[in-house]
Amino acid sequence: MNVIYFDNNATTRVADEVFEAMRPYFCELYGNPSSMHTFGGQVGVRIREAREHVAALLGCHPSEVIFTSCGTESDSTAILGTLAAVPHRRKVITTRVEHPAVLTVCRDLENRGYQVIELGVDKQGRLDLGELESHLDDDTAIVTIMSANNETGTVFPIEKIARMVTDRGITFHTDAVQVVGKIPLNLADSCVNLLSLSGHKLHGPKGVGVLYVRKGTRIAPLLLGGHQEGGRRAGTENVPGIIGLGKACELASRYMEDENTRVRTLRDRLESAILASCPDSRINGDPENRLPNTTNISFEYIEGEAILLMLDRFGICASSGSACTSGSLEPSHVLRAMGVPFTAAHGSIRYSLSRYNTEEEVDFTIDKMPQIIERLRELSPFVGQVTA
Ligand code: PLP
Repeated sequence: MNVIYFDNNATTRVADEVFEAMRPYFCELYGNPSSMHTFGGQVGVRIREAREHVAALLGCHPSEVIFTSCGTESDSTAILGTLAAVPHRRKVITTRVEHPAVLTVCRDLENRGYQVIELGVDKQGRLDLGELESHLDDDTAIVTIMSANNETGTVFPIEKIARMVTDRGITFHTDAVQVVGKIPLNLADSCVNLLSLSGHKLHGPKGVGVLYVRKGTRIAPLLLGGHQEGGRRAGTENVPGIIGLGKACELASRYMEDENTRVRTLRDRLESAILASCPDSRINGDPENRLPNTTNISFEYIEGEAILLMLDRFGICASSGSACTSGSLEPSHVLRAMGVPFTAAHGSIRYSLSRYNTEEEVDFTIDKMPQIIERLRELSPFVGQVTA
């Protein structure tokens, strides 16, 4: 059975060009870039080139790019490294809809005596910037707010937020794991201090990420040890991963236009056909400010997991809520923060597309969805109940 993969916010297929670029760095060019000999040194040169490709995609200087092991490590380093650099400040501001890579760190900080403010969102997942402003003070060490939500695709006005925060001398971090490669960035013209990205979300390999650190930003390293990454992140480099990420960034610049035209059109076609053919369905998130590849749709009275199982029979991969929480049947914390009614939050499905998806795949899914929903509604004990 062919797989129709609509779960690209969970992870993406490694691009062929990325895989080919990585291949020599396992068994041929396996030297340690820190070695003095030419064999290792040539790897160091390739890492430098990869760093330049990342910097070109982000619109920053290569020296501002630190390679990490994943988006999660980048997020942890940004938050904990900032707190270590400004120990007299004890307040952290974030949102209730962050990925667990940020939210769990912040909640742990609260247990350790920090004041943590979690900003709420409205029904469409939008922030109230007035509320954010009212919390900024001299005790605030860092504000960490995602660029776009992994579950709904809602994009936050990061530049406006970054200016508001940094104008007060507070460090601003954004988890841009879902944005890099989908929306153009130019960090040279931005106020963002720290930005996280992850290789496996943009057709690069798993196990590699980046923390962008704007020149002059006060931050301490999380991992101590060797002098790699200019002493800012110890540990022998994941050379194939870094080379692959460099290639993925190079390709992302090339495919950005496609992402925002063809992929967006496919997403819109899928979304509008499903909404038209499946009664009691609705979009979750801000329909105006949204990632071009993502749609999150709630189907009242049925379980998202049941829909996923039925889709799976046709080889269609999607997600109910975030991939990282899909092991539990709790409704997503993002949809709960948006006040999505319980019966709708339970029946939410995220379709996240990529440049590898085709019109035929979208049409096949459009054809199958109404029968799946109708069948599950026939079986549902909740149909006809009043929702709260
Ligand atoms: N931040 C967001 C918004 C994500 O979607 C993810 C992964 O799903 C992460 C952070 C974690 O990235 P990684 O899997 O590279 O640790």
